[in-house]
Amino acid sequence: MADTLIDSVTESREPTRTVYRFALTRPVYGYQALYENGAFKLSIRRPPVVDASEPLRGMTIVVDPGHPPIGATGPTGLFEPVPTLAVGLRVRDLLEARGAHVVMTRTTAAPVALGDRPIIARRANANAFISIHLNADGDGQNPFRDNGTGTYYFHQQSRLFARTVQDALAPQLGLRNRGIFYQNLAVCRSTWFPAVLAEGLFIIMPDQEAAIKTPQYQEAYARGVVDGLEKFFATFAQ
Ligand SMILES: [Zn+2]
Repeated sequence: MADTLIDSVTESREPTRTVYRFALTRPVYGYQALYENGAFKLSIRRPPVVDASEPLRGMTIVVDPGHPPIGATGPTGLFEPVPTLAVGLRVRDLLEARGAHVVMTRTTAAPVALGDRPIIARRANANAFISIHLNADGDGQNPFRDNGTGTYYFHQQSRLFARTVQDALAPQLGLRNRGIFYQNLAVCRSTWFPAVLAEGLFIIMPDQEAAIKTPQYQEAYARGVVDGLEKFFATFAQ
């Protein structure tokens, strides 16, 4: 049967392996490889069907408020998981208001293991996964000189998503725009759905720690994330 996503499949047998090549008509949205009932199964995911006037309607989005366990602490003792949960809950409300189906990895202060977070998203058959964090690590730089807003991705198919989130989030928060970063982060390794991790600001900077305590700045963070998600899904509208 003709498929509009897969253009061609070729097989080449080599002495120690067989290579299958899938040429797609569109950039890959997601894929998953499983060994199931004695057979190797590769699933290639179609992009979602998106309504241009309401790009978030019907999308399943997993919102992951970063930590606990662990998490960074600001100069006056603000613990990262407290504001990330407040932001995450606002993201949920704003997404639901735009018609999305939201699954939270946590809604309380109780710890959720890092490895369980992508599993929650896989079980939900997420169309996208966003993890919300506050930075404390200067990536080898002095954070007093290099701080602001950054977004992280791992797989190529998450790069556009990282870009749309970063472009929407940085102006909302009004800090230095650090751009997008390629990094091998546990919550960004799933291949079935685009996944990014936002580091909206640096909790170890006294002014940024003070700002994220306020509902207004939490709202700005949430709005940036939601606008970025909306722009990402809008790129799939026919
Ligand atoms: Zn964090």
